[in-house]
Amino acid sequence: MVYKCPECRSKRFRQLGDGRLKCSRCKHRFSKPKNRLPIKSRLLGKIIEEFLWEHSTNAIFERVDISKYKLLKILTLLRIVMAKDVPTLFSGIVEVDETYLGE
Ligand SMILES: [Zn+2]
Repeated sequence: MVYKCPECRSKRFRQLGDGRLKCSRCKHRFSKPKNRLPIKSRLLGKIIEEFLWEHSTNAIFERVDISKYKLLKILTLLRIVMAKDVPTLFSGIVEVDETYLGE
């Protein structure tokens, strides 16, 4: 995970004995951000499962106990992660079976 200094946005740190980080540029000390998604991993697993079944955002929202704002944020993050993970094998025209389309 890439950390940024909350003060000067620098990415260079020194690890302190107590586990915190000290910015090499402005000397600001801060704790490592632990979980960027404020959500339990079991709930996240459920959302990912629903997402992979291509359920609509509203359908997922009805089934998981989470605010819509958080859900949208998580779904956006999932899409970003997946878009980065697309193999280069899929170049040119890709034909997708019609049962994959729609709901
Ligand atoms: Zn700094």
